[in-house]
Amino acid sequence: MANLRISIIGAGSAVFSMRIVSDLCKMPKLSGTEVVLMDIDEERLENFLVLARELTEFFGANLKFEKTLSLRKAIEGADFVINTALAGGHEYLNKVRAIGEKYGYYRGIDAQNYNFVTDYLNLTNWNQMTLFLKIANLIKELAPNAWYLQAANPVLEGTTLVSTETGIKMVGFCHGHFSVETLAELVGVKDYEWQVAGVNHGIWLTKFESRDGKNLYEELVKYADKPHKPSTPFDDQLSPVAWDMYRTYGLFPIGDTVRNSTWKYHRNLETKKRWYGEPWGGADSELGWEWYVSQLNAVVNMIELFAKAVKNGQKLTNAKDVVLNAIPHASEEWKNLIADLLDPSKLSREQHVPFIDSVVNSERRRFVVNVLNNGKIKGLDDDIAVEVCAYVEGEKFEFEEVSLPKRVLEWYLKPRTLLAKQALEVFKTKNLKLLEDILERDPRTKSSEQVRKVIDELYPIMLKEQKKVEEQE
Ligand code: NAD
Repeated sequence: MANLRISIIGAGSAVFSMRIVSDLCKMPKLSGTEVVLMDIDEERLENFLVLARELTEFFGANLKFEKTLSLRKAIEGADFVINTALAGGHEYLNKVRAIGEKYGYYRGIDAQNYNFVTDYLNLTNWNQMTLFLKIANLIKELAPNAWYLQAANPVLEGTTLVSTETGIKMVGFCHGHFSVETLAELVGVKDYEWQVAGVNHGIWLTKFESRDGKNLYEELVKYADKPHKPSTPFDDQLSPVAWDMYRTYGLFPIGDTVRNSTWKYHRNLETKKRWYGEPWGGADSELGWEWYVSQLNAVVNMIELFAKAVKNGQKLTNAKDVVLNAIPHASEEWKNLIADLLDPSKLSREQHVPFIDSVVNSERRRFVVNVLNNGKIKGLDDDIAVEVCAYVEGEKFEFEEVSLPKRVLEWYLKPRTLLAKQALEVFKTKNLKLLEDILERDPRTKSSEQVRKVIDELYPIMLKEQKKVEEQE
């Protein structure tokens, strides 16, 4: 028995938490683990607790659950702290985006070169950065040997901030690299070697080979510019943007990297539609994001109905049918998600639980991790978080050698990491002249008055939301 204590901060982020608990149920060596569920939303927390217990019973697993509204209580004595919270929620993201748009900044002031992902705010998310630091400092005080696993965005800035400011044991995780599979399917290979490297939401396919050493890029390019009709706003791995970025930078962009390049693809809805495809123009257009939020809302409804059915004495498998019948508009993806959660042979593929198992039980596995660079990618600063492949066994990380072309380094990763450092300096110093300076370089800025007005309106809101997190128990 592992006798671990794992805390999930933002446990009401139901899909993510269900995946984590379902994975824990399927890992026999983590049997006996205590899971502490922490959130500021009592109702979401209670719903999730009911489901987590039922899921555990369904698998006949041995997990114990506690719920708390207190960060301090959640972190005390933890071995692993997983953070998936979104301070201020989607409401806050919408609010700051709307203010940006009011002053002429389409999709908000955080939408910048190499950073267009809609729930990845790095300039206005002082509440989220404050929460990251608060959690990390509590770990330092109350659980100094614990690992901090970062799921919440912005992962690049968050991992950099926490690692440089506190030095606690930390890894950031993202699932962007799954999209390598889309390329493998395209070229018709099942067994292949791959590697990605870069920064979060800015990773590049540095190796794509068959087992006998054939470079699969040669196969890939045969499909260049194949007509693309996205099935969802997130279906962009083979969009014209991906091929265009490949031509510009010399390597294939993977996962959310395709959402993050220059203004060329993001100027307005029409431009986005041209590059990411009709009808949405990608995940980060107003239409694509509306689609995503409606999916998230469907999931919140689904979880509520699920919890209600279980509280009324239904078993999970019956409750599943009750829920799916009640939400006919839930997409196939969500229906499959429920089926996978209940399938004893399938892990969710989130890296957090396998990582915990590798650390605790010395099970050697390969991960894609976000950690401070310290020489892993030559040419980038040491004190910035990079996303690279590593084998983990116990607390030992064996990082793979990385070789990135100069074009990717100089034209993509350096400007992106510079923006991350600038955003963090603004957050740490609260020097608004620096924020002005970032906006003065923004192609949407037409006058200094526009810059001052947008900052004047955003600043008190950013401070107020930061204070709420500072005062959180
Ligand atoms: P959400 O708003 O639906 O859920 C987040 C949860 O955090 C909510 O239950 C909320 O009550 C809780 N919360 C808010 N403030 C809190 C606080 N101060 N303390 C504790 N809990 C708090 O958001 P979501 O869509 O589930 O996204 C959550 C985060 O995960 C976002 O940052 C998102 O960008 C990120 N994300 C990461 C990945 C990845 O692979 N790394 C993938 C998807 C989403």
